[in-house]
Amino acid sequence: MRQWCLAVSKTIPPLLPTHTLTPLYLSRPAHWGLYHPLISRSALIRAKKMSVFTQQLNPITGRLEWGIQPEDYDYKQEVARSAYADMLHDQERNEKYYEGLKRAVAQIKGRGEEVRVLDIGTGTGLLSMMAVTCGADVVTACEAFHPMAECARKGLAENSLAHRVKLIAKRSTELDVGPGKDLERKANLLVAELFDTELIGEGAIDTYRHAREFLLTDDALLVPSEGTVYAQVVSSKMLQRWNKISPIVRSKHGKEEVLLSVPSVVSECDGAAAVHDLQLSQVPRHWITPLSNPLPVLRFDWSGRSADLPCERTTLTTFRPLTSGLCDAVLMWWEIKMDQEGDVVLSCAPYWAHPDLTDVGWKGSSEDIPWRDHWMQAVYYLPQTRHVNKDSTATLLSSHDEYSLWFNLKRDASDCVSIERPVCECRIHIVNSRTRLGQLNDPRRIEVYTRVLETLIRPDSVCLALGDGCLMAIVAARLGARHVYMTEGSDPNRRVAKEFIAANSVQHKVTLLPEDVSDTTLQQLVAPVTIIFSEPFFSTSLLPWHSLYCWYMRNSCEHLLLPQATRIPSSVSIWALPVAYRDLWKIRAPLQQCCGFKMGVFDKLIETACAEADERVEPQPLWEYPARAKSTPIHLMTLDLSTPIPDAPVCRGGSIPLTTEGLVNGMALWVDWQITENDGDVITTGPIQPVVVDDNVEWDIYSRQGVYLFRNPYIIGPDLPSTLKYSVTFQPLDGTMNFNFEIETVGRRKEV
Ligand code: SAH
Repeated sequence: MRQWCLAVSKTIPPLLPTHTLTPLYLSRPAHWGLYHPLISRSALIRAKKMSVFTQQLNPITGRLEWGIQPEDYDYKQEVARSAYADMLHDQERNEKYYEGLKRAVAQIKGRGEEVRVLDIGTGTGLLSMMAVTCGADVVTACEAFHPMAECARKGLAENSLAHRVKLIAKRSTELDVGPGKDLERKANLLVAELFDTELIGEGAIDTYRHAREFLLTDDALLVPSEGTVYAQVVSSKMLQRWNKISPIVRSKHGKEEVLLSVPSVVSECDGAAAVHDLQLSQVPRHWITPLSNPLPVLRFDWSGRSADLPCERTTLTTFRPLTSGLCDAVLMWWEIKMDQEGDVVLSCAPYWAHPDLTDVGWKGSSEDIPWRDHWMQAVYYLPQTRHVNKDSTATLLSSHDEYSLWFNLKRDASDCVSIERPVCECRIHIVNSRTRLGQLNDPRRIEVYTRVLETLIRPDSVCLALGDGCLMAIVAARLGARHVYMTEGSDPNRRVAKEFIAANSVQHKVTLLPEDVSDTTLQQLVAPVTIIFSEPFFSTSLLPWHSLYCWYMRNSCEHLLLPQATRIPSSVSIWALPVAYRDLWKIRAPLQQCCGFKMGVFDKLIETACAEADERVEPQPLWEYPARAKSTPIHLMTLDLSTPIPDAPVCRGGSIPLTTEGLVNGMALWVDWQITENDGDVITTGPIQPVVVDDNVEWDIYSRQGVYLFRNPYIIGPDLPSTLKYSVTFQPLDGTMNFNFEIETVGRRKEV
């Protein structure tokens, strides 16, 4: 679940709304919170103290800058872009809450008591409406996020239940109890849905502790009553690619040669404690070797009655490893008990560990369990990889504070390990997102870049590497370039770069420059630049084409280049593919109703927000979201990066027949970076295997692709020829790409 308005003490930057994700080619955001690698995907949509950063044009400098918005800022976009719709589409969640409420109401009535429900964080008002329908006598709902409280007010009216639910636009910790106050009397039933992928990341502990002390009777029932965190220790080189930087080694004349050594401060770093949330059910089986079974490691009794609900603790769980191996990571998910007895359980387990599929295990698939994006599963990397032996036991240390979890592993009693939250000392885990760390370890990218640099670099080459953390600059130096200049904007990135420069003993031939080199003169260089390259990656790149920033950066470097300097990448091609997203469509689709309650008000809010949004495309790691191709890829546009940026917009368009029957509900977008003009010197951010029509696409796992969802999905029928019309416009002024896709069926437009 996403929330916006909690003044959480977790050190997260304020929310940066995703509708402002237009790339800042002219200037980059001074505040880079949105790209902050320590924010998990599922916590992205969050605001601190109601402050919201958005992008604005500064009329004086003519530059786009980040600005803080006032409290009355229109949050529709945030609601639309959050996981709210997906959460409400989660039928299992809705039904199990309903069932939990039914049972709790019946139980209290069975005690002969009046049922007084408190719904903390009512959102659309859904759980309050359920409580009324279950027979609750008094229902009080609070919602801290004012625009959502407004939505609940209208939603309750739409369902003719406004008179049955007392709605208070406040955070629960601000509620007063007593005659004439927010709650006349303490509630004896608390329903709340305050969980994120990390279970406690949205401040559930504080909310429950406060409620217990001030808002609830001693015997109050809670829906859900309990939460349990499961952990599974695994060995996984593939997952480690998103965590630890590996050296780059090439084989030459049968001998191995290291092209990039990793400084010990980086290789020995505990890494970031930040959760890596992902759709574990999409992880291929061969990526992971389980070293333990799923272990219940932390139990949260939300009422605090059977067990205290501490703000922090560490539990020890001893297990016998399933096999000997290196413990790389802990996979985590949770389940909640919706009733008091634990008969109604909602589990976020991946399919192989799902309680509903106990006999199926790894033979199952993600299709066998309900899909949801608002709660995923998570990977926590162990501070240090440790080898465990199947003939002895090991102990998993599971810790939490008020908002986060972390893990460590102990081999035996004499093994002294920290129970402190890991802290990244090397900074590489702080300045880089998981996606970027993956790119730095991606064998495909490494192979193309090292091959290209090997071919191009001569002893007199002078290279200029543009980008954030472009480690290929070090490789260029190691490959024998005369001198390499690296632009690095941020201080942490410069510190990381210095560590790599020292570890690779190239201090004499690598110089760090500021990001803006317009003040650097030719006289400051050993010679004019012969090769200018970027990876292409920038910390501000969210959508694949955002790395076009390198084209803009090159503009300010022209005075440092030889006229015939080699420019890498040489061009970029933009591609589109009509697809049938198996599940992803739910993040925007109207609900119409939830468990019989009308959701027209909420649908309207999302619809207006989407219609007003200037950005129809959003970044998603598509390897986690199955999609079937409905045609072969469509080439939209190629931009030649060796030429100057054009003055006028570049528009391309066309149409193709859609002949494959069935559903088409969106488009997938990506770019291919042509590193040089030679075939094969391509880095794709899209499919990594040939696209087969009507089959699932295999995507680059180290990129986020662009997702465009049709407002209404289409069914292509056998007798109605359908055409996909497409157009893309590149706006050189601000570097944006505007896409337009439409499906036309001859005779009449067929929609579902
Ligand atoms: N109960 C709704 C919405 C769940 S999303 C449903 O199940 O469909 C969680 C909501 O709780 C968010 O809207 C968030 O703003 C709100 N919230 C979180 N903590 C809160 C608190 N302590 N007091 C009031 N609202 C809170």
